[in-house]
Amino acid sequence: MADKQKYLNWLDEHAGLFADVSDSIWEYAELSLMEEKSCALYVKLLREEGFTVETPVANIQTGFKATYGSGRPVIGILAEYDALTGLSQVAGSTTRQELVKNGTGHGCGHHMLGAGAMAAAYAVKKYLEDAGPGHGTVIFFGCPGEEGGAAKAFYARDQVFDGLDIALTWHPGDINAVRTGSCNSCIQTEYRFTGIASHAAGAPDKGRSALDAVELMNIGVQFLREHMPDHDRIHYAITDAGGNSPNVVQPRARVLYMVRSELAKNVRKLQARVDKIAEAAAMMTETRMEKRFIDGCGNTVPNEVLEKLMYKNFEEVGVPHYTDDELAYAQAIVDGFELPADGLPGRGEFYESAECQKIIAKLSDNGKKPLNDFLMPFVHSNQVSCGSTDVGDVSWLVPTVQCSAVGFVSGAPGHSWQNVSCGHTSIAHKGLLTAGKVIAATAIDLYESPETVKAAKEEFDSIVVPAGGYCCLVPEDAVPTKIDDPWD
Ligand SMILES: [Zn+2]
Repeated sequence: MADKQKYLNWLDEHAGLFADVSDSIWEYAELSLMEEKSCALYVKLLREEGFTVETPVANIQTGFKATYGSGRPVIGILAEYDALTGLSQVAGSTTRQELVKNGTGHGCGHHMLGAGAMAAAYAVKKYLEDAGPGHGTVIFFGCPGEEGGAAKAFYARDQVFDGLDIALTWHPGDINAVRTGSCNSCIQTEYRFTGIASHAAGAPDKGRSALDAVELMNIGVQFLREHMPDHDRIHYAITDAGGNSPNVVQPRARVLYMVRSELAKNVRKLQARVDKIAEAAAMMTETRMEKRFIDGCGNTVPNEVLEKLMYKNFEEVGVPHYTDDELAYAQAIVDGFELPADGLPGRGEFYESAECQKIIAKLSDNGKKPLNDFLMPFVHSNQVSCGSTDVGDVSWLVPTVQCSAVGFVSGAPGHSWQNVSCGHTSIAHKGLLTAGKVIAATAIDLYESPETVKAAKEEFDSIVVPAGGYCCLVPEDAVPTKIDDPWD
């Protein structure tokens, strides 16, 4: 058996490197599919470390794939590094303070996600170096555009994950846990309506309003909501209302829709109903409707074999401990929440049993801890949470597991300035190192135990094969689209 601790110690000794990568990417704060600097930093460091790096990947300019080793199993570690609009924030501040006016920020913690995943890939490489050729391969996948663009789904369509045996990743959160359950599949589509401009008072009969079409489409969809399955979701944003002049009949308008349902095949059906409403809105207003696919991703397939293995490693690695300063900072953030956090840490749907609630209440001091310095109980579940992730597509191709490590204060809303603030502190650095160790230790166990890889695959087959296999929501001819890309 390999001395796993040796590789985890190596991570402790090199913690500064990964903290620096995380901080740099936090500072770049690049939006989906525009992560040029972030990608360049990874590619440079990975090449220097001795990985063979391929970039771009699947025609996505900010994607990369870094490989080391030879032979099976081939273990993939997934990284993300895109930021969000409107969330620029001063690091470590306990109040809302923009760093750059109307700037971007890492509200989902993907800067930590990538750096923690990189730490794992480095430690695994050290292990494979010692183990020698033929003992296994690690591939570190740089997956851009998680927030919009869904690179993993494009990679899946283009067979980038072919030959992989297992995929591992993580996401920062406000708890330390191994993730379980499933989520929703999702399609994003933008609808563009084109009408005829005219003087809204002088010649209203000569105008055909694209904005009317958007409004009627939205009303049609509101009525659809009553007649769709409970866990399905539809959201929209008007991306172009046609201008600022009420005295002009708006000749153009655009609306972006997100449609979610558990299974990819069902999200397609719901999408078709929304398309029909868009066509009807165009007919009612005598405007022209065009649509373009933005992205789409599948739900996640849980894997109990891998969840158990990752949990055992999380127990061994342990959780971060915090200084008084870190706790005081977190408490100040918690005290400033506009809406007080309700309930105990962790998503209710997975931890709702009385036994779990009792354990979590005790560990979290009845939810009063500002930083959750404990590991959540082990739970395996098939329940569906309503969000979506493009990790889903990977999980339909190979057995996949993810953990969560604390990168944010307890109860902080997702995609918030509080998360951006915390993302560039020692709390974030501790979280990403913990996740890196858990992933590295899990991977090392898998290289050492072909029977666990086999068991994970058997479980995977028992779910995916009867379900008819992977259904890719990315059309054959779709190209990755940034939301501000011109239409024509
Ligand atoms: Zn995220």
